[in-house]
Amino acid sequence: MAEVILDKAGKTYPGGVRAVEGFDLDIADGEFVVLVGPSGCGKSTTLRMIAGLEEITEGTISIGGRVVNDVHARDRDIAMVFQNYALYPHMTVERNLSFGLERRRNHRSRLRSLFSTTHRRARRAETESIAARVRDSARMLGITDLLDRLPRALSGGQRQRVALGRALVRAPQVFLFDEPLSNLDAKLRVEMRTELRVLHSRLNATMVYVTHDQEEAMTLGDRLVVMDQGVVQQIDAPTRIYSNPVNRFVAGFVGTPAMNFVEGTLDASGRLNALEGSITLDPQRFGGHVGPVVLGVRPGALRPCEPGRGWGFRLEAIEHLGDRVDLVLDRGGRQWISRVEWSPDFVEGDTLHFEPRVGEGVHLFEASESGRTLAST
Ligand code: ADP
Repeated sequence: MAEVILDKAGKTYPGGVRAVEGFDLDIADGEFVVLVGPSGCGKSTTLRMIAGLEEITEGTISIGGRVVNDVHARDRDIAMVFQNYALYPHMTVERNLSFGLERRRNHRSRLRSLFSTTHRRARRAETESIAARVRDSARMLGITDLLDRLPRALSGGQRQRVALGRALVRAPQVFLFDEPLSNLDAKLRVEMRTELRVLHSRLNATMVYVTHDQEEAMTLGDRLVVMDQGVVQQIDAPTRIYSNPVNRFVAGFVGTPAMNFVEGTLDASGRLNALEGSITLDPQRFGGHVGPVVLGVRPGALRPCEPGRGWGFRLEAIEHLGDRVDLVLDRGGRQWISRVEWSPDFVEGDTLHFEPRVGEGVHLFEASESGRTLAST
């Protein structure tokens, strides 16, 4: 296993698309890091740069202490798992698992073994070791019963397990995953997520995983790297990204339902004029930021209150989630979501009052384009 370091790494594609710029990241040995961001933000390019499938045009990348800028993909000792499983259709699961290792062995030893008994013996030992690795990986992934089947006789989830197994048997220094679960149905995706976490903790392997799905990122990663337009926005543990986003982009990208935002003007006493009304925020925590601001409220922090306080909203719809409900609210044509415990007082079409509950996910951002965070509670 190995650490991976990106130092001001970047990629400009021929034709001038600057897909990734100034990417700095130290991935510790055995860490599970998830690159997450909207489509086109440069996640796959970054992963492919680590894999050696994409040449980098700025900075350096090191794996296990060695700069690999000029090292060919096959010599980087990494294994990559893709969204499309890319299994060999005419080979059994067992052969799919062993094929890569056998090819490497044959490459090295075929000629030598023709002339030497020692090499013939070594070759036999290697064949046995490949078989053992295939058996171990199959057991770890629960696909031992499928070893004789062809890929067409497998379900999507089973195929993705075989694709994982192919990476596993190689025991690489680093595992790279490019949206490996996107082709699976929702239930299976959630199951496979858990399996990947378990696999990671058993192997203690360095893993870099790409997804556009922030929920998947939150559940999988030791740390997340949130990207936008080729630039890293924030690198931190999932809970810290959620509760202390560095800017409005990160705040809006992470969390479902998404954070509610509103532009307003704040005065020194904590009064925020917004949504054709005003509310009072704790001046201790928010009062230092006088002038135009953006308020961000997590749905769970928007709570019902007495009519004399908060803002009045029309209750447009109630979405039941089992133990709680999402209330779809409207004020002046702007939609807000409140996630609360259900109450018989909620009647669609009624006007209800809500206020942000400071300390439970209320944030203040600059009203600028960067939307830097001013306060998080
Ligand atoms: P993501 O994985 O986050 O969806 P990508 O890394 O695939 O993003 O792409 C980042 C940017 O680089 C996008 O603007 C995309 O159009 C561009 N891009 C990706 N591959 C190429 C390529 N081979 N040639 C030119 N531009 C590319």
